[in-house]
Amino acid sequence: MKGGFYMEKKRETIKTFRNEIEAHLAKTLLKQEGISATVHSISRYRAMTGGGCVLKTLHEDAEKGRRILSRISADIDMDEYVDRDDLSYRRCPKCNTVSVKVAPLPGKLRAFCILTVGLLLLFLKRDWTCEKCNHHWCE
Ligand SMILES: [Zn+2]
Repeated sequence: MKGGFYMEKKRETIKTFRNEIEAHLAKTLLKQEGISATVHSISRYRAMTGGGCVLKTLHEDAEKGRRILSRISADIDMDEYVDRDDLSYRRCPKCNTVSVKVAPLPGKLRAFCILTVGLLLLFLKRDWTCEKCNHHWCE
């Protein structure tokens, strides 16, 4: 029998992530389950998809990989992975979590931001919300 030897192992995308950190966390989790996965940037399509990464595994691992990830995709707790002293993350002033999100700008202001190519954003104070304790603050 010939042929099998020359066949390249097929890799399959099992999940898309918003950022590289999450993709690498998922890769680590899969590794603990004995599945080897690779992270690929999809920045080529950034304009359309908003950027992110895809996680790929061998075809025969894809099914199991998806099952594992669906168990944990209920939202990764970033606090478990970010060093408490890491100042490059924005944190909730109340409970110190890094799970915070910025409130969208009101419509009028957003239109103005687009007109000024985002320059205005540098001078605006934004409303932040903590996803854990629901604390609101402005900075
Ligand atoms: Zn908080």
